[in-house]
Amino acid sequence: MSLVIFAACEDDDAGDPVDAAVEDGMDVPTDIPSDDGRDTTPDGAALWAECPDAPLLGVAGTSSVDSFETGFRWEDGWSIGEPMTFQVATDVRGIAITVDLPESYTGLAYIENNGAVFLDINNDDPDLEGTSPFFHTPDRSGSIAIPMDNEISVEPGCLTIIPAGLDDLSDYLADIYIATKRGTASRMDVTAVVVGDTVIEESEIEAAFTATSALYEGANAGSVRDVEIVYLEWDSPFIDSETEDIHSLRAAVVGDDPGRLNVFFIQDFLEEGTAGVAAGIPGPVWAHGLAGSGVIISVDNNLNADGATVDIDFMASVLAHEVAHQVGLFHSTEAEGLFHDEFDDTAACTTAQDADGDGYVDADECIDHGGRNFMFWTGGDFDQNEISRSQARIISLSPVMR
Ligand SMILES: [Zn+2]
Repeated sequence: MSLVIFAACEDDDAGDPVDAAVEDGMDVPTDIPSDDGRDTTPDGAALWAECPDAPLLGVAGTSSVDSFETGFRWEDGWSIGEPMTFQVATDVRGIAITVDLPESYTGLAYIENNGAVFLDINNDDPDLEGTSPFFHTPDRSGSIAIPMDNEISVEPGCLTIIPAGLDDLSDYLADIYIATKRGTASRMDVTAVVVGDTVIEESEIEAAFTATSALYEGANAGSVRDVEIVYLEWDSPFIDSETEDIHSLRAAVVGDDPGRLNVFFIQDFLEEGTAGVAAGIPGPVWAHGLAGSGVIISVDNNLNADGATVDIDFMASVLAHEVAHQVGLFHSTEAEGLFHDEFDDTAACTTAQDADGDGYVDADECIDHGGRNFMFWTGGDFDQNEISRSQARIISLSPVMR
């Protein structure tokens, strides 16, 4: 573990992850090289005849990220990009896609894999916006992760996406980050960022991640391998989650290794009662410096009754919950007991368990109906340390697990 001081960085040009990727030689050439670990057929021809000119995603045997740029045209009240097609190798287990343009709401309008359409804004039911298995709603650093559930998984072959934006972006280029997991290991490395004057002991951060790792390992969801603690100079340890404040914070830390997930520890949110937030379902992984790059934990809402020391088991559940959102997991049961995740093996709590009739299914009302799942919508007075096999699979197949 090393201590690093990051200066607050407000300059959009500094640490631009796309420039850094180009300098690192990580950009994908349009033809497929044969000698850099990317796979090709023996004669060096394209892997898939259906999309022979498309770039091949990723690096065999490991997780990595490829980045691209795309423009937009303004049409029918939204911005739409050109279709972009990629080759998916036979060993790809999970993919995470982020469309980013600073200060803009971006997302994906269309995803097709070998003719199977996963997402089509023009044809999908608008009532599904914001529900599992995916948000159709554009977001800052709008992202999609596949697999989304037990049905929608990425298959070897050709993958076509169409980026989109809410505002008129026709004069701008967006960055497209496509992370692929092509290895079988499932270990996550995190950078714990202590923000401003936030008070938390390093031993508490380490203990919390150790407990989070145990939760994941117990469910075969992967594990937390390395935790690096860094300190970020920041005006205040109190963050406004409803303004640019939170986006600026998440964009402020660009590490040397884009595969590490940034986890910010703040004293508290200005909005009371929030233990942690993810940047989306999913948010970006393998992309630093974006409005959505990382999850944020409130120290004050993870304390013991003494008001001073961290409740390690509670914080571990919050960490497990927010990281799971960031890689694509929805709540197992939403607040009103009406919406649930897509998985048959995840216990669902319904309105039938709303004993006090207040319109919300609380954790204690659902203790025998999924209230112990760490993806339940709210906390309880007992440990939430369970997930189903299907939920664990989504976490373990994220490229952030490498
Ligand atoms: Zn949540």
